[in-house]
Formats: sequence, structure tokens, C-alpha cells
Amino acid sequence: MTLTSRTVQIAAFGGPEQLHLVELPVGEPGPGEVRIRHHAVGLNFIDVYQRTGLYPNALPLSLGMEGAGVIEAVGEGVAHLAVGDRAAYASNPPGSYCERRVMPAKCVVKLPDAISFDEGAAMMLKGLTVQYLLRRTQPQGGLKAGDFVLFHAAAGGVGLIACQWARAMGLQLIGTAGSDEKCALASEMGASHTINYRTEDFVARVKEITGGVGVKAVYDSVGADTFMKSLDCLQPFGLIATYGNASGKVPPLDIGVLAAKGSLYVSRPTLFTHIATRERTQEMADDLFGMVTSGMVKIRIDQRYPLAEVAQAHRDLEARNTTGCSILTL
Ligand code: NDP
Repeated sequence: MTLTSRTVQIAAFGGPEQLHLVELPVGEPGPGEVRIRHHAVGLNFIDVYQRTGLYPNALPLSLGMEGAGVIEAVGEGVAHLAVGDRAAYASNPPGSYCERRVMPAKCVVKLPDAISFDEGAAMMLKGLTVQYLLRRTQPQGGLKAGDFVLFHAAAGGVGLIACQWARAMGLQLIGTAGSDEKCALASEMGASHTINYRTEDFVARVKEITGGVGVKAVYDSVGADTFMKSLDCLQPFGLIATYGNASGKVPPLDIGVLAAKGSLYVSRPTLFTHIATRERTQEMADDLFGMVTSGMVKIRIDQRYPLAEVAQAHRDLEARNTTGCSILTL
């Protein structure tokens, strides 16, 4: 009997109405691959970019880059996973919105027993992103306890993990968010200061909070609406990591602006460079799992949707109606 998997696919780029549930055959894993049966799947804003075609891929396309479940079959040459293991991953190419899939084993790590499948599915892409941003995307001289950083969309999935991780590192994280309720949540989860950037001028507030000095680093996933103003929040030699486009793509930059604003550094990172090897993925995952099992970072899952309601999940995410992580349940 052929094994099948209920899978969410798009046949054309566009709105949430393009998301369709189909039943696809699933084969055996080849060399270097595993087959995983999902217990839960994580939802990420990057899934929206792929659905709209902002990040292009060949069609038809199965979306989703994060999941957790049990290993069902292991291909030749895979030594770090065995049938029956609890496992989780962040992966590129996409394809996690499904019951089961065959995928490269190098993306997949064992999930500690103390972390639930729901948490594993919600945190891999977002948590590994915070790991590389706060630990590995730092200004010259590094970040030290007491330093100010600015983190946009601080009440989102990546954002709430960052608030807690920054607090554990002793950083003063100034978090922006789109409502007073979201700001209160970011404060509760570790932001030292918050700014409602829909009602307040965040550049002026950052200057006020830092006594006119500015922050050492800005982590900006909002993109078009915030990028240029974010540069004005930096102190000389400061670093901006522009790592997302929730409000649209950052327009082309005249690099002379970086000199005029104080010898600034710009990085445009993606998680998938950081987790290109199995060894690095494991090292970063161990750090993330340590933060979670020690209780320093709690994974807040504020929205859960059955797989068949994925279109509503996308609508809520794009409408800025979510906080923390969202997952699809199976
Ligand atoms: P979030 O849960 O943070 O959702 C996105 C948030 O962005 C919204 O809730 C909203 O918060 C804010 N936002 C600001 N302007 C808009 C807008 N015009 N439309 C929609 N949302 C807006 O998502 P994720 O945690 O999944 O991801 C956060 C960001 O990190 C994304 O931009 C994503 O692409 C990026 N990312 C990048 C990675 C990389 O390696 N480069 C890896 C992982 C994520 P508010 O209402 O508070 O403004």
C-alpha cells in the first residue's frame, strides 16, 4: 500500500486562498534522508513571503519550514537519527505543512524529552534565528551585559524568544510592537523598554531611553516601514541586521548613508547560511534547547490551527493579529 500524506500546497502565488489541501504519495528516504511523521508544524512569516512569491520557488509548492514529530524511516548513511526518535527541524526547501515527508537528515535533530512536540514545532526556525542573531550577529567588539539593542516586532514569534534570550544575556532590549497590549507582553517576557511604533516616534523614544547615545545593534524584520529610521537609532559603528520584510522589501540603499550616519555596519543574514552543516545545526540547537530546558526561554504558543485551517492562520499572521508562536496541529 502506498503511504500518503495530507499536504498543503500552492499551485500559484497569491493570497491565502491559494492554499489547498491535497493528498500526496510519500516514498522511502534515499541516502542522507529521513521520513518524519509530524505531530505539529510551525507557522512562520517567511511562509507568507513564499506564498506571495516574494521569495520565489518552483510551483506547485508545499509550504512550511519547521516541524516536529517521530522518525518513521532512515535512509542510507544517516547515523544521528533512528526509527522512533522524537525529532524537530527548520528546513529549506520548504514542505512541512503536511502529515509526513521525506527530507534531508542534516536539518533534523533529536528533540529532548523535556520539550513537547508543539514547542519543538514552534521554536526551531524562530529559536535558531534568535540564536544566530543575538549570539553571532553582533556589532564590532561584541555585545556585553547592560548594552542596549533595538528589536522590532518584539511580541511576535521570533520577538518573544528574543526578549527572553536578551534578558538572559543581560542586554537591555528595547522592543517595538504594534499595540499597547503587545508592548505589555514584550515587557513581561523580558524587554527592558517597549515602544508602540504605531503611535510613538520610535527614533525619538530610543534616543530618550539611551540618553541620546543610541543602541549598539538593531534587529529589524519589519523592513520597508522601519529600515531607514532604524539607522537613526544606532550609535557610531553600530550594526543593523535587516533579516525580514513583514511590511515590504527594504528599498535599495545608497551606502554613502552609512558613513553619514556614523560608520555603520549592515548585515542581511538568513538562518539557512548559519545551519548549512549538520554540525552547526546541532551546535545551535543544543544552545537553544539549553535555553528552553533551563526555563530561561519559554515557548509561547498563542495560536493553534488544524492543518485544514491554514488559510485562516495566514490571514491572522498577515493582519498582525497574532502574538508569540503559531502552530498547525495534526
Ligand atoms: P511574527 O510573529 O513576528 O509576525 C510578524 C510581525 O511583524 C507582526 O505580528 C507585526 O507585529 C509585525 N509587522 C510590522 N509591520 C507589519 C506589516 N505591515 N504586516 C504584517 N506584520 C507586520 O513573525 P515571525 O516570528 O514568524 O517572523 C518575524 C520576522 O522574522 C519575519 O519578518 C520573518 O521573515 C523574519 N525571519 C527571518 C529569518 C532570517 O533568518 N532572515 C528567519 C526567521 C524569521 P506588530 O503588530 O507588533 O508590528
